Amino acid sequence: MSFLSYLQGLSREKLSLKLYSCTGRDVEQALQHPEGSLESLLALLSPAAESYLEQMAQTSARLTRQRFGANIGMYLPLYLSNLCANECDYCGFSMSNRIKRKTLSLDELNAEMRVVKAMDYDSILLVSGEHETKVGIDYFSSVLPSVKSQFSYVAMEVQPLKEAEYSQLARLGLDAVMIYQETYNPQTYAQHHTRGNKQHFEYRLQTPERVARVGIDKIGLGVLLGLDDWRLDALLMGHHLAYLESNFWRSRYSVSLPRLRPCTGGISPKVELTDRGLVQLICAFRLFNHQLEISLSTRESAVLRDNLFGLGVTQLSAGSSTQPGGYLAPDTQLDQFEISDERTPTEVCAAMKVRGFNPVWKDWESAWV
Ligand code: SF4
Repeated sequence: MSFLSYLQGLSREKLSLKLYSCTGRDVEQALQHPEGSLESLLALLSPAAESYLEQMAQTSARLTRQRFGANIGMYLPLYLSNLCANECDYCGFSMSNRIKRKTLSLDELNAEMRVVKAMDYDSILLVSGEHETKVGIDYFSSVLPSVKSQFSYVAMEVQPLKEAEYSQLARLGLDAVMIYQETYNPQTYAQHHTRGNKQHFEYRLQTPERVARVGIDKIGLGVLLGLDDWRLDALLMGHHLAYLESNFWRSRYSVSLPRLRPCTGGISPKVELTDRGLVQLICAFRLFNHQLEISLSTRESAVLRDNLFGLGVTQLSAGSSTQPGGYLAPDTQLDQFEISDERTPTEVCAAMKVRGFNPVWKDWESAWV
């Protein structure tokens, strides 16, 4: 059964009712046996679990320390292009936004990579808008060998591709694919994605399965917190994660928990997720899945990020730019969204070390595979 069929078999109304009618007793039971139980995840994401946040945070910190030690993996997004043929009302790259558009040439990409390497990064996340014809498989195939020659671990966050295309990129050294569903509510999805291929909710939803079938090492899931009820979206992402892990156990999984940020022509969050809510989410996922990598981007403030070290987060970016060519020549007119933590990687790592954590720049060597 595909995840699409699985999701269609779930009742959003029933899940929502259960989420909002959970009691303290349900949460206490969930805390006894949280690992791998979707029932427990539901209770830990419920409003009733807010009163147990301290206990959840302590358990989450202990489990994270047990599995990941004091290590936090460092990665950096590198924007290849801000061309986009879609209209998403929360994103600065939407095609109707009158911003300067740019796609890096190979020379520009090499120059950009030199700046990133000088910051010590060895794990890179290639990002682009979604423009099938100008920034599609041919472009990705042409730049990937250069990127792979510079970085040990290469992830991509671009438009959903075909299975054969993922296979082609895997042969060129692609290690990970991040593909965020944004929301698991098809109606909300349709309201926010009004033009272009991204309107195809189902094709996007099936992407992690296409990625997993070609054996890519890591798959990242995510929802854009604020588009819809974050508790229900997070719960459905938990279902997606559990489905993928049980069907494609050879891949590793990560989740990203971005909150909606201001951007050119963008919208405000429909459903506000507070800092406490974000902490609850992180802890709920750690209790549910001890191996899961959880990443936190520079969308969050410096103070909050510093307080989240060790709580469940295992991957962090720092000194990020959200524009193509932005490391060599910053130009805010090209940005996808506003950055909140504007510290340099050195400053973030210093804050990490003060709290007893180690930044890890390289944790992967393809030659060993
Ligand atoms: S979210 Fe992605 S697909 Fe949508 S406008 Fe932004 S870059 Fe394009």
